[in-house]
Amino acid sequence: MKPTHIEHIGIAVTNLEESIAYYEKVLGLECYAIEEVADQRVRTAFFKVGETKIELLESMDPDGPVGKYIAKRGPGIHHLAFAMKDVATSLKQAGEQGIRLIDETPREGAEGLKIGFLHPGSTFGVLTEFCGEM
Ligand code: ZN
Repeated sequence: MKPTHIEHIGIAVTNLEESIAYYEKVLGLECYAIEEVADQRVRTAFFKVGETKIELLESMDPDGPVGKYIAKRGPGIHHLAFAMKDVATSLKQAGEQGIRLIDETPREGAEGLKIGFLHPGSTFGVLTEFCGEM
């Protein structure tokens, strides 16, 4: 298991449109997709910075994972996603090394990618996502 690059950085925001305007007008990036991920009860907006993306996450439900996160910690960096060739095997290998998994097996994320999360309690405080095509 070895990540090929940082696939994206997930950032929890309270207002997607205002946040998009910042990334576009101040940083000069272009929002190329807005997508609702019903499973995680968020609306997402994507920007490319080289090979890495910025994923803005606006909660659609105060009881959803991002809604709860913002209530507790406020907006800001939410998770770090590593690009993995094989998400299922990478999750399994992390589990075998004693890492607490949020997802034992991959599920469907934004952009049709397979994703799975490691628990921040096992990763020194960083909610960590594996992200890939299988
Ligand atoms: Zn993500």
